[in-house]
Amino acid sequence: MAHSHMVLRYAPSPTGPQHIGGLRTALYCYLLAKQNHGELILRIEDTDQARFVEGAEEFIIRAINWLGLEFTQGVHIGGPHSPYRQSERSDLYQNYAQFLVDHGHAYYAFDTPEELEQMREELTKAKVEHRTYNYVSRMAMKNSLTLPKAEVKERLASGAPYVVRFKVPKKEDIRFVDHVRGPMHFHSSAVDDKVLIKGDGLPTYHLANVVDDHYMQVTHVIRGEEWLSSTPLHVLLYRALGWEESMPEFAHLALLLSPEGRKLSKREADKFGIPIFPFNWWDRESGQTWEGYSDLGYLPEAVMNYIALLGWNSGQEQELMTREELIKEFSLERCHKAGARFDMKKLDSFQQHYLRQRSDADLAALSKPFLEAEGITIPSQEYLETTVVLMRERMTFASDLARSGAYLFRRPTEYEAKARKKWKASAVALLIEFKDRLGTHANWETASLKAAFEAFVIEKNTGFGKVMAPLRLALTGVA
Ligand code: GLU
Repeated sequence: MAHSHMVLRYAPSPTGPQHIGGLRTALYCYLLAKQNHGELILRIEDTDQARFVEGAEEFIIRAINWLGLEFTQGVHIGGPHSPYRQSERSDLYQNYAQFLVDHGHAYYAFDTPEELEQMREELTKAKVEHRTYNYVSRMAMKNSLTLPKAEVKERLASGAPYVVRFKVPKKEDIRFVDHVRGPMHFHSSAVDDKVLIKGDGLPTYHLANVVDDHYMQVTHVIRGEEWLSSTPLHVLLYRALGWEESMPEFAHLALLLSPEGRKLSKREADKFGIPIFPFNWWDRESGQTWEGYSDLGYLPEAVMNYIALLGWNSGQEQELMTREELIKEFSLERCHKAGARFDMKKLDSFQQHYLRQRSDADLAALSKPFLEAEGITIPSQEYLETTVVLMRERMTFASDLARSGAYLFRRPTEYEAKARKKWKASAVALLIEFKDRLGTHANWETASLKAAFEAFVIEKNTGFGKVMAPLRLALTGVA
């Protein structure tokens, strides 16, 4: 890549809780920035006040901190381009909108919603394919290109509502190389005259995004595929603003898909039991609650490794990779063009691996809140760690100790009825016989009990599991 100093940014809009797809974008930005000792900026794109969701920004910051994605500048840490919240930078965008108007690249439009609707109806009747405000239809509308100068002046002075629209050039080629998808070619006739400044005086995403990426000297824009269709407009904006030479490079990441290959929307994810958020989220409006990875007990390193591979591979067999390995190996060129299907089984196997990597003390600390939530009293730290040593090979989640190892702390009061159903009467008879024999057993040390059990199994000439499974259920309550 041509840039000596890479500058990346993650630019979420606080329109909802950070979902796993956004987190993957943030991760890829982080990996590349780290690999190249570049800058990583967290910018909040909150110019759409109507879609603002309370708590969304905090959620984003919590999520990136959870994965340990260190940023070098951003809304949460400040930096040379402060403020990093677009709603606090409006003057900047106003100035550039004015520049575009002054240089004939943008214009004021006064059309009412009814007039816009009427335009669409007429274009539909006339069977026009692009039913938008564009280089053809703009000349039939109420704007500073069609109204007399004096009237425009008067309308602006009177405080009448208006928007600023981009005057998309009629015949221009738009070419750029996407790092994931290769060379892209668009034509300006397919781009409509997008609004740059809305009726409320705030910029739209397009203007603010381009101005900020330029202003913050961003060299690489990594974002979801859903933004690919906006890129031609952005290229035209860079051109009109005289910034095409230093325009960032683009990489549009393929969508995350459900196991059946559909877009992983909240609804679709829910259908397959796939959590979509890093933390629990309660939706104020619908009252719905969503369970998040962290709250479900997933470790950040497992989620990081897993989502890194959702749409990228290192080209080697090895899939379990540490943060350092991911930083070293990651490349945009190895990102897949096709969408990535979510596979919870694989994630769980990563989770199991990473949980077992943790030290006994760590596992004890992670398990503790789950034990406490079950009302289990922990006799001592030492005892807790002993149980961890016994159980770690059976654990996938830190909650597993409380779930299937509770008997190590308290006498079981119930047992898994389903497991009980599996035994034959002969197994029950054997178990009772062994129990009676234990009644006269003098030495209750592990080795002695084990020897007694083995002798019993040999004497009865029965399989080990036939007695062991019921014995375990009888003692512990779990299969
Ligand atoms: N604010 C956009 C979003 O919410 C950012 C798109 C981009 O990175 O340009 O996804």
